Amino acid sequence: MANQIYLDYAATTPMAPEAVLTLCGSLTLDDNFANPASLQHAFGERANDLVENSRTNMATCLNCKPGDLIFTSGATESNNLAIKGIALGYRSKGQHIITSASEHKAVLDTCKYLESIGFSVTYLRPDLEGQISVEQVLSAITSETILVSLMQVNNETGYIQDINQIAKALEQEDVFFHVDAAQSAGKLPLDLSETPIDLLSLSGHKFYGPKGIGCLFVRNRKKINLTPLLHGGGQEHGLRPGTLPTHQIAGMATAFELANDTQKADYAHAVALQHALTKQLNKLDGVYFNGDQEHKLPNIINVSFEQISADSLIIALRDEIAISSGSACNSGAVEASHVLRAMGIEGDRLYGAVRISFGRYTSIEEIAWAGQRIVEEVTRLRELALE
Ligand SMILES: *Cc1c(COP(=O)(O)O)cnc(C)c1O
Repeated sequence: MANQIYLDYAATTPMAPEAVLTLCGSLTLDDNFANPASLQHAFGERANDLVENSRTNMATCLNCKPGDLIFTSGATESNNLAIKGIALGYRSKGQHIITSASEHKAVLDTCKYLESIGFSVTYLRPDLEGQISVEQVLSAITSETILVSLMQVNNETGYIQDINQIAKALEQEDVFFHVDAAQSAGKLPLDLSETPIDLLSLSGHKFYGPKGIGCLFVRNRKKINLTPLLHGGGQEHGLRPGTLPTHQIAGMATAFELANDTQKADYAHAVALQHALTKQLNKLDGVYFNGDQEHKLPNIINVSFEQISADSLIIALRDEIAISSGSACNSGAVEASHVLRAMGIEGDRLYGAVRISFGRYTSIEEIAWAGQRIVEEVTRLRELALE
């Protein structure tokens, strides 16, 4: 166990110790445990202060109004609330949604559900690099279109979509623009006062915060007719009722502030790790890095090795190195990546694709060791195949 190396940061990150401290400080009688909606007493008031300070701190990092942030259970819920919320709220205006075939399942399955109740959805196809062009988006818009939903960074390839450019192009159109920023938040600069995005999903556990917490940014929340998924005690302006998890919110806000403060250093560290790993992997013949290698986050590498299936490599390394065959949601079932398939990648390269992702707590020594072991195992598996 002690010698195992975790290279699956895109599935989830370990929590920052700083955020753990904040989280643990909001649980017991001596601390900030109370229901933040219990404003009749001082306990509740203190909890409410902590929640609102956390909201303000997150809003400061994003340069948006604190009142436009709604706490949810994570990016899955945020995506559901954004997409179903707009679809149901604006159904009388139009019933067409645009997204891409390389989105996270939390977006794709939400769109499939909406199709089952009468909406129509256009799934744009990315090119071989992973890109969706502005022209593709604009030419898919009809008088029926109410929403465009695209991710900023792909969770399997790390590809960075030019969200800024798409947002600016959509400003002239009468449609809402939702961005799934689960993989990019805290890793790339994002200024919501400059980028005209209407709705944005974040998830705490992708930026070293706790699991089970995230938020949805809704620009000018008071003016948008978002239909809630849940009904209850009216928290979060009725858009997301339920007792707010003070500890998770505080932990997430600490993690988010830290990620913003250390963004440049984290990025530079990931670039160094990426460089070291790709250099080692390139010692092998028949190595294919999937997707554009320039417009991507350095902390995610998607790679296929000729003649090697993803499963055989992942299993061979299982006791030493944690890597995956793409999204955590699909693993278990041996299913080829819908993201790579959408990009037009086929055959061995599709079935051989593994995702190696790392982050703030990955050391250069760990990457060097992992790179060496991957090279050895690929070589061994290829020799076995020859026998
Ligand atoms: C992880 C992830 C999600 C889901 O987030 P949860 O908080 O785990 O529900 C959605 N979209 C992308 C791009 C992700 O990487």
